[in-house]
Amino acid sequence: MEKLLSKDHFEITNGENILYLNQKANEAKAKGVKVINGTVGMLYSEEGHIVDFPLVDEVIANSNDEATLKYGSVVGGIGFAKSVMDWLFGGVDYSSVKHSVIGTLGATGALSLTIRNYTSRGQAVLMPSIRWSNYDSIAQQAGATVSVYNLFNKENNFDVKSLEEKVNESVEKYGRVFLLINDPCQNPTGYTIKEGEWDEILAILKNASKKAPVVLLDDIAYLNYSRTSYDPIIQKILDSLNDNFMAVFAFSASKTLSIYGLRGGAAIGFTSSQEGIDDFKKAMEETARSIWSSPNSIACRVIEENFNSLEKREILRKKLNDYLSILEERANIFIKEAKKVNLVCYPYVSGFFLLIPCPNNQKVVDQLIEDENLYVVPLSGGIRVALSCLTKKEIVGMATKIKKAYDKING
Ligand code: PLP
Repeated sequence: MEKLLSKDHFEITNGENILYLNQKANEAKAKGVKVINGTVGMLYSEEGHIVDFPLVDEVIANSNDEATLKYGSVVGGIGFAKSVMDWLFGGVDYSSVKHSVIGTLGATGALSLTIRNYTSRGQAVLMPSIRWSNYDSIAQQAGATVSVYNLFNKENNFDVKSLEEKVNESVEKYGRVFLLINDPCQNPTGYTIKEGEWDEILAILKNASKKAPVVLLDDIAYLNYSRTSYDPIIQKILDSLNDNFMAVFAFSASKTLSIYGLRGGAAIGFTSSQEGIDDFKKAMEETARSIWSSPNSIACRVIEENFNSLEKREILRKKLNDYLSILEERANIFIKEAKKVNLVCYPYVSGFFLLIPCPNNQKVVDQLIEDENLYVVPLSGGIRVALSCLTKKEIVGMATKIKKAYDKING
């Protein structure tokens, strides 16, 4: 008999087990087991609470009014758009290109709307070999497929050659290119692409755009956890655009403002022609309208009412700087110890995560749970450690524990 569920229903293909492992860790903790939970991408303080921005709390506390309760703009509104531009692009010159800001449900919403509208059915989204597992599902939901470029070459630099091959293949096969990059502070490695590597990537894309439409989607979810300014990279990207080459940035208010559950974010599109940007605005708006209709009004207010003031932006950046310092201290503890015990990590620059290349990663993770009640995530042929949700005290000794389990399984 035919099942109720359609045979064409959506199936997750890439084993999204991060939230499952987090749940398992929390269940063990509730039973009184002393667990160490390094699974999720939320930033916790050394006291074990999600980090807080008083300016954000203030907006939430004062949002119980009609402006919150009524239907808002499908894309966030003019004030929202201006504040997002001031926060993200206040340090670059975007006068030579056209732009549009679409309020979304998190960076996830921005990724989803962009892939839906800028890939043809079955077209491959070019993604790195090491990546956040949810990308595959988002692409599949959009009717796209996945094609993988190698993230690191033998020297542990960005593998520009592999990317070039995939871009050329896409021009040949689909007559268009859709490239997804997660930079800076990549999930799961913490890698940030170097300026020189960006020069090469942009030259490849510019060249491809002479033959086919090219869309670069930069997932900047962890932008505000980079120690070095990303403005020079954004400027390079914007200066490379033409009528056949578009860039979209996926912004996450979850990560920047620590409001994961409020689902705030934006997709900001840039290209040279007015027609190209009008198409972007119309298509993204219509897609949003048919899925979630309009973004969360409280998240939009938190973004707009904080980012629209220079004084508040400065206070937020100061606080972010403090949180970044905590992440750096945690990373330093882990990496120093890892070196001591010969545990290799991919090149970490900054951000919430680092990744240890590891054969049989699922077995090693199971061993760590069994032996140490230590929860980390098997992902992309490695073990991902979420520095964001571990205290410095919990990180001390962790590299040694992982090395022990690694050796036990892999010999
Ligand atoms: N992009 C990356 C690389 C992420 O790691 C995450 C969340 O973990 C997201 C996007 C989604 O963030 P949001 O909560 O803004 O949808």
